[in-house]
Amino acid sequence: MLQYYRFKKRHPDCVLLFRVGDFYEMFDDDAVKVSQAIGLTLTQRSAGVPMAGVPHHQLENYLRRLTLRGFRVAVCEQLIDASQAKGIVPRAVTRVITPGTVVDEALMESDASIALAAVCVAPREAKSTTHLAALAITEVSTGLFVVVECDVNSIADELARRGVRELLFADMGKGNAQEELAGVVEEVGALRALGISSHARPAWHFRPEEALESLRKQYGVKTLAGFGLRDDEACVFAAGALLRYLEETQTAGEEETKEVASVGLTVRRGSLKHLRPPKREDASGHLVIDAVSLRSLEIERTMREVGIVGGASGKNATSAGDGTLLGVFAFAGLGKGSARTPMGKRALRDWICRPLLDIAAIERRQSGVSLLVEQRDLAARIGEVLAGIQDVARIGGRVSLARATPRDIVVLAQAALACGGLSEIVSGAPALADVHAALTKCVKSLRKFAERTVAICVDNPPGHLRDGGLIKDGVDAALDEARLLERDAGAWLAKYQAELIAQHDLPSLKVGYNKVAGYFIELPTAQARSAPVELKRMQTLRNAERFTTPLLSEFERKVTTAQGRALERERELFLELCDAALAEVHAIAGLADAIATIDVLLAFADKAAHRQWIKPRLTDGVGLRIDQGRHPVLDELLGGSAGGCVPNDCELGTEETKRRRDEETELEGKQGVATPSLALLTGPNMAGKSTYIRMVALVTILAHTGSFVPAAGATIGLTDRVFTRIGADDALHAGQSTFMVEMVETANILHHATGRSLVILDEVGRGTSTLDGLSLAWGIVEYLGGVRESDSAKVRKSKGDKNTLALSPRTLFATHYHELTELEDRYPNRIRNLHVAVREWPAGGDHAEIVFLHRILPGRADQSYGLHVARLAGMPKDVILRAKDVLGTLAVHQHGAGIVEGAAKSNGVEQSEKAKGKRGRVDVSAVSSADNSSGQLALFKEYVPHPAVDALKELKLDAMTPLQAFDALRKLHGLTQDGH
Ligand code: ADP
Ligand code: MG
Repeated sequence: MLQYYRFKKRHPDCVLLFRVGDFYEMFDDDAVKVSQAIGLTLTQRSAGVPMAGVPHHQLENYLRRLTLRGFRVAVCEQLIDASQAKGIVPRAVTRVITPGTVVDEALMESDASIALAAVCVAPREAKSTTHLAALAITEVSTGLFVVVECDVNSIADELARRGVRELLFADMGKGNAQEELAGVVEEVGALRALGISSHARPAWHFRPEEALESLRKQYGVKTLAGFGLRDDEACVFAAGALLRYLEETQTAGEEETKEVASVGLTVRRGSLKHLRPPKREDASGHLVIDAVSLRSLEIERTMREVGIVGGASGKNATSAGDGTLLGVFAFAGLGKGSARTPMGKRALRDWICRPLLDIAAIERRQSGVSLLVEQRDLAARIGEVLAGIQDVARIGGRVSLARATPRDIVVLAQAALACGGLSEIVSGAPALADVHAALTKCVKSLRKFAERTVAICVDNPPGHLRDGGLIKDGVDAALDEARLLERDAGAWLAKYQAELIAQHDLPSLKVGYNKVAGYFIELPTAQARSAPVELKRMQTLRNAERFTTPLLSEFERKVTTAQGRALERERELFLELCDAALAEVHAIAGLADAIATIDVLLAFADKAAHRQWIKPRLTDGVGLRIDQGRHPVLDELLGGSAGGCVPNDCELGTEETKRRRDEETELEGKQGVATPSLALLTGPNMAGKSTYIRMVALVTILAHTGSFVPAAGATIGLTDRVFTRIGADDALHAGQSTFMVEMVETANILHHATGRSLVILDEVGRGTSTLDGLSLAWGIVEYLGGVRESDSAKVRKSKGDKNTLALSPRTLFATHYHELTELEDRYPNRIRNLHVAVREWPAGGDHAEIVFLHRILPGRADQSYGLHVARLAGMPKDVILRAKDVLGTLAVHQHGAGIVEGAAKSNGVEQSEKAKGKRGRVDVSAVSSADNSSGQLALFKEYVPHPAVDALKELKLDAMTPLQAFDALRKLHGLTQDGH
């Protein structure tokens, strides 16, 4: 236990897994915490010392579970075989694994990034009200290292986008900015919801001098100016602190080195050589998709998969049609439309989560995709090469950290040579010139290493070097000699056995070998008595005796040393190869990047070719136009068949002079006018509203990645951000009410949306009472539509007010509040109604069948068909019938007769009905007016405006007697009481 505590003290923040025999044991608090978190049996070592253990062969499995739960783990191994040890077995911590620094193949998904970040607060900008956060983010497994600055409030978004699993921040006293930041970071449980574990580090790690010092040491520079960073920037401090953490966890410390040296072993110190210099990433260089939108647009995960990053969901993320946008690219399986390499899969995610904002760069990607769409032969040949390439990027990381396996080295060499072939394949294609140049350059640097490796190593090397078997025969004379002796052992033993049998006339005598006893001569007990004296007794078994001879012992010694020599020689040769790879670690990274790029371009091209996607046109304008767009995921799920995804058009904020003439003839008159940037979408439940607005968002996002899009045509103005608020998902925000979340997110949108943003709102306002909800929705629509005047009675007539229009984001608002459709009449330049077509026909009996056409058309919807949907859903017939009754009563009530009986004759109410009629309210289709009982239930129609108010306005006070006045007052009072 003293030894245990010695190590525990060195790694106080880690769970210490302490090897004891066949188990890794945990003690004290570690044991308690871990047994609770992952359900291990808690025992006691001695009274008061809790203990829990995991079997040694299950180590990787448990490491994975522990890191996924945010634990940091130090693994303390026995350095020598326990049986050889005198006294306490010498031990040392050989690995420290933390959630954000995992590098071993067995512990990570190949298609998800695992990153570590450090955060630091930047000085407040002169007029800004919020702090800026400076983030340094690294993927230890591949060497990626970036710094970015962002608003403190969007830290969680930034971290989610980049697959950060662990966040470091300075542990400071109370009351300063850093403390405040830590508060923000811990708050709302956002980090936990994203599966990020946060970790306070000593404040001095973040101090300018210390941070700078560790960066200078790592990169051998005097100043960071060469990397485009100032030495006094907050992000540099974060980067320095990050680096210090990596040194602590990833490279063997001095104490451990000593510990190991004390038993005559050496550790191979890992290096961080593969870490690239920190690169500044401008948050404004990308189309920003915040965490909420990532989730509600189901880009990586579907809404059903809630919770821990990298859980079961991570595993299946790209395994065929899982309902996510990323899944679309993996859907066809067997390589069609899926990235083929792990680098490609991660890059695909990155490209989709962080689309570009630079038209030229997007077009460069597009031309690569075009080429591969047109030249399917070329695409097929590239695909073949890529399919054989493994995780070169992470192998590069392991090479640097001295954790590469024999298999890693061989796989790397094979990949380098394959890339030589790849570079030739793409050499003739101008659209792939960048990839070609990068491949050629990196392959050249790696060629020597690769050729030597392939020449001396077996094709299918073992996962570790414990038993040798990496180097081919005939490569190294010393190795061959050692192996020869080992291999000839069998023949020598047979010969020796025959000699002994002949010499002593003992036909049952056997000469054998096993791992425990070594070499032995065995006789059945019956014959053991007549054994010659030269056989020395070794071991007694149940019905046999074992012996040895000086000759056999000598042979054993020779073989064992030969084995040791062979292993040692293999290790030397292996380490030589590792060093050769380490020298080219930057070429490995370059190669990985080039592979990733061509892989994603190919995935885009495959998808485009197989599903008839087209190349979108990106423009500098603020408009958006999609012809015959399909929801990529739905399209994939339903296939291209007749019953497939119904294509729809979308046009927002475009200034088109010539409109298409098909079903939009009713808008013919508006030629030459800018299309409103806000579209209000109403329609029955299940009609396809949500699908439509998501389609627009997904097509927009895809267009910025360089991918083609599922449409017949698309012209899209560069989009700085996509904002989404869809549905309610309170599971992620335990503790906050759904409506609060809805409002927080919507407020965020209203504050940050610009004239270049795309805003998607689905049923906002549903989380509260209908009246509140409607009013809020109304206000939000006016705000986003650029109708800023709060007095909505004063309709602004200023047509084409360019300034305000430029500030209004492209917005799609799907709502069940039919009342909102009135807004189009008030602000025809700003707001446009859309609805989803439904076909209805009598199906015998008293109900009509409805068919959802999923077709989006201009104009407003008539009713919500809630009861039809309920019937389709299998609601008991009695409930439906009763609901119809109730609806009938309510509707009558609603339409005036019921409530306003007393006042009905007063022309007030009639007036108000007329006023509504004038404004073109409702009654779009003959269907709803034909059958009132199935009409939309607009509960609050009477409030906007309230009949009592209308009646009040109409009262002619001067012409009333006091008694009449009192009578009128009573009626008014009655109006306000009735049913509400
Ligand atoms: P809403 O939001 O109007 O209630 P949804 O968008 O959720 O409706 O769509 C309901 C269902 O209708 C979807 O699950 C999908 O199966 C189908 N659907 C929607 N849009 C389309 C379409 N364009 N083509 C084919 N099916 C669609
Ligand atoms: Mg919906």
